[in-house]
Amino acid sequence: MTRRLEDNASTHDPMLVTRWRETVEYVADLTRRSGRDPEDVRIVAVSKTQPAPAVRVLLDNGQLDFGENYVQEALDKQASLASCAARWHFLGRLQRNKAKFIPGRFVMLHSLDSLSLARVLHERCQAAGVALEVLIQVNLGQEPQKGGVAECDLEHIAQGVAGMANLSLRGLMALPPFELSLRDKQRAFARLANLRDHVKRQVGVSLEELSMGTTDDFPQAIAEGATLVRIGTRIFGPRTLCKRTSSVLP
Ligand SMILES: *Cc1c(COP(=O)(O)O)cnc(C)c1O
Repeated sequence: MTRRLEDNASTHDPMLVTRWRETVEYVADLTRRSGRDPEDVRIVAVSKTQPAPAVRVLLDNGQLDFGENYVQEALDKQASLASCAARWHFLGRLQRNKAKFIPGRFVMLHSLDSLSLARVLHERCQAAGVALEVLIQVNLGQEPQKGGVAECDLEHIAQGVAGMANLSLRGLMALPPFELSLRDKQRAFARLANLRDHVKRQVGVSLEELSMGTTDDFPQAIAEGATLVRIGTRIFGPRTLCKRTSSVLP
């Protein structure tokens, strides 16, 4: 059984808004407990595989930031939510031949992982006369199958991106290895925060954003200074393994 994105299933999920509201309150509470202003941590509601009507429901309730992983799915969803105030974040691995779909459609790319991708994005942004906020994804666990730059390349890449006028380097992102214990994930988040401080000094850019923490580990991420938490399942419920349509990109 495949489920089309247009299905209304989640619109009728009476718990969607309740789960979202409870998550907003919990994030604010955790942020206060970490000694920060609740405004300092933003929730990116990860809506991948979730239908557009569910996004609409949260938008109507005041959630503004949404995260997507697949270009085609995101463009379809954006089209069906045209003229809404959503701020879209791109979280997934981005192939260079799809970079052209990002400028003007997304406010932030969380998964910048090479200078060659940065150059293509920069050219596209220049051509379109727009700016794009970017985060460099760091591969903390040195997992070959996962995106992100090695720690030893981070400074060099940050230096390069900092010189690209239409890309605004705002910080770092990481997704620690899935199998780590919560304690070790928290250590990984602390490590990302330290790397950020290091690169900030070395490169002389402000880097105020740390995108870290998902449904399973956002309390640990907030404790270590996350400013963007990417939460999907806790808000929307489990993702259906929907078979993606093979429609051709515009
Ligand atoms: C899917 C995804 C998330 C959300 O994960 P949940 O466990 O559903 O909260 C966060 N970040 C990235 C990069 C993702 O791909």
